[in-house]
Amino acid sequence: MPRQGLGWKYPLLILGSVLAGIVFGWSRIGSQINFWSYDFLLRLRPAVSSSSAILLAIDEDSLESFGGLLHLREPLARALEVVARQEPAAVAIDIVLSEPGEESDNEALERALAATPNVVLAAHLRTGSSGESGAWQEPLPLFRERAAALGHVHADPDDDGVCRRILLAKAGGGKRLWAMALEAYRLAQGGGPVVETEAGLEIRPRRIPAALREQRPLPIAFPGPESSIERVSLQEILETPGSAARVRGRVVFVGVVVPGGPDHFLMTPFSFGRPLSGVEINAAAYETLARGDFLQTAADSVSLLVALVFAAGLAICFVQFAGRRALWLAGALLAGAHLGPAALFLAGHILDFALVGGVAWMCFFTGGGFHYLALRGRMQTAEEQRSRYQRAVHYVTHEMRTPLTTIQGSSEMMSRYELTDEKRQQIAGLIHRESVRLAKLVDMFLSVEKLSAGELALRCEAVRPDEILAVCIERALPLAERKQISIGHGPGAAEPLWGDREFLEYACYNLITNAIKYSPPHTTITVRAWHDRESVLLSVEDRGYGMDAAELKSIFRKFYRTPRAENSQEKGTGLGLAIVEEIVVQHGGSIEVESRVDEGSRFTLSLPRAAGQGGPVATVRGDEHRQSH
Ligand code: ADP
Repeated sequence: MPRQGLGWKYPLLILGSVLAGIVFGWSRIGSQINFWSYDFLLRLRPAVSSSSAILLAIDEDSLESFGGLLHLREPLARALEVVARQEPAAVAIDIVLSEPGEESDNEALERALAATPNVVLAAHLRTGSSGESGAWQEPLPLFRERAAALGHVHADPDDDGVCRRILLAKAGGGKRLWAMALEAYRLAQGGGPVVETEAGLEIRPRRIPAALREQRPLPIAFPGPESSIERVSLQEILETPGSAARVRGRVVFVGVVVPGGPDHFLMTPFSFGRPLSGVEINAAAYETLARGDFLQTAADSVSLLVALVFAAGLAICFVQFAGRRALWLAGALLAGAHLGPAALFLAGHILDFALVGGVAWMCFFTGGGFHYLALRGRMQTAEEQRSRYQRAVHYVTHEMRTPLTTIQGSSEMMSRYELTDEKRQQIAGLIHRESVRLAKLVDMFLSVEKLSAGELALRCEAVRPDEILAVCIERALPLAERKQISIGHGPGAAEPLWGDREFLEYACYNLITNAIKYSPPHTTITVRAWHDRESVLLSVEDRGYGMDAAELKSIFRKFYRTPRAENSQEKGTGLGLAIVEEIVVQHGGSIEVESRVDEGSRFTLSLPRAAGQGGPVATVRGDEHRQSH
């Protein structure tokens, strides 16, 4: 059942939670959570065993046998000649050949490069001392001329130092270069052009979803810890040329795999403390392209939209459902906010986990907290109502005892003793009066419930408001005189109204007796009746104790009495105004109160005018007129 009374605070709190969730999602902690989630989910993907790239690794043994990096070009040239004979699809050399070197070594390498098909050479963007990008460090022209392409070899790590992606297009020093992995893939596919669009690149027939923003990032689908890319060492190729047969038709990545060497080693989601060499990262990026295993990062607006959908779901959940059901459903939604993005990741789409999760958690806590507080508030109200009810029952039973005792005593007297006719009549009158009082007390209790349930029918007719007021004043006069309060009829006259005389008399009498009860002695009460275009208005104004704003909000609740009324000598049930309101609402009218503490109160009833209403007497069921006051 929908819950009422959440007011404007709830949507405002949910909005606040959404904003807090967004701030969290886009904070440093949020981005770290995104990294962790990314790494965790990447590891859940099935491992890939076959690779179309092969690593020609210049390992520690190879370097030692050639006398270190300075003497690398000559053995590299020899190895390339062996590799070239096996007709690889492409050879990507992840060593920046920019140093002058020995002439004979350079000549040998130049010859080898010329004999090798589809060579990609490495270029590196220098960074200045303050981190800005400087000029490109490129291979010597004699090598560059022999290569089919030039590719950058940067593996841009994230803020936490872990490499998860490469930039397919790296710009700097007034020049932009494709990544070595992309060039190797392009050449292996026949050397066609790279077609660029805003959303991605195309090397026929493959579409690569690497958007223009942020220099076309490509998340690397690392093949997993067990299935790192197949490798053959340089030394092995030279010592046993037969081993080069493994490179046939494949893309060969040549690079130094010695920690501390010229190549950068970086952590990857699979590293677990063991960094990976740059050439292996480039080879893994190539594999990603070759397999078409693309992870697409959703735009921020998409993640935000998903987060808002979950926020709305959670907000509605706590409004529409109650108790445990709300908690279970909200819990399921919260789980969905984590499992949904995880499932999408495994299907190749990366959402902002921290944003979606952060917004969902915030809304869960806020909605849950509000839900709990509202529940507690309702329980408190119910408890207060119960204790007020008990007090009222106490009062009514106490009040009932007096007439009952009188009736009991009088009837006993009549039956036991010989009485004169006069005495008998006197006692009969007393019994009658007390039983009427008793019946009224019971009626009062029953009529509130019956009225609100629409079970009492109003017998409406044209009634003169001044007549109603006059009857009520006359009845209330003895009470007023006891406190020396005068009741005056203010100026103004009114057209007849359309209503049930008896009920309206009850309502006005109640307002006047309240004015007497809650005013100090020697004050005045003024009653008025007047009309405007649509309504007849009746007001009762006193110079009594008055009420503050908080009390005013509650006086129409059943059994409510202000603390001042409770502590006063005046007896009451807290039911009178609830009945008055009910009567007025059933008439299609309204009631208004203005009050100031220690200055007084004015209750104004607004009721429909008789002019234009049906016949002389019409019967209306209570529920046919319901309106709020
Ligand atoms: P009660 O039986 O207590 O008079 P009512 O429903 O008639 O019950 O009124 C509810 C409460 O509203 C009263 O207990 C009193 O605290 C407050 N109240 C009603 N009328 C007045 C008034 N004219 N001046 C000050 N307080 C009033």
